Amino acid sequence: MPKNSPNSLDPRSPLVLDTRELPRRPGALRTVERVVPAPSDLGVELIGVPEGADLDLDLRMESVSEGVLVSGTVSGPIRGECGRCLREINDSVTVTIQELYAYENSTTDATTEEDEVGRMQGDLIDLEPTSRDAVVLALPTNPLCRQDCPGLCPDCGVHGDDLPADHSHQQVDPRWAGLSKLTRTEE
Ligand SMILES: [Zn+2]
Ligand SMILES: [Zn+2]
Repeated sequence: MPKNSPNSLDPRSPLVLDTRELPRRPGALRTVERVVPAPSDLGVELIGVPEGADLDLDLRMESVSEGVLVSGTVSGPIRGECGRCLREINDSVTVTIQELYAYENSTTDATTEEDEVGRMQGDLIDLEPTSRDAVVLALPTNPLCRQDCPGLCPDCGVHGDDLPADHSHQQVDPRWAGLSKLTRTEE
């Protein structure tokens, strides 16, 4: 994954947690309950959290010896399109996250890779990559409006729900189609 974390995080950014109020004493706890606007591209091709929609953060930050452990849930509405019939899907998603963010210059910081353990930037934690990964992982790769969606008739494009069970189209036999072309050439 390309590394695009800026050198300094904006503490007012919706998915940045500020730990200044959290004592750096193992066991110290702070809860974070906020509603923030969803960032762009929080999803996959057919389904995702609309940009700016309400994301509910219900988290706790806990001081541990090497950093801050963030755990809890992130939830929000999802909107998408049924992979079979293209009808709109309105649903919601709730993901559980648990991630350790190591203090700068801690032993953990020195001995682990950044993709194994998160990093704090000063007193700030960038929650966006973790939230994004968790939400994307929780989304269906092939979203359906309902499990037994019959999809659309490949010939007329009408939804299976609106068609009788014996619905079919008269097929032109490809051999006859070839013959009629032949007849025309001969004329
Ligand atoms: Zn459908
Ligand atoms: Zn049809």
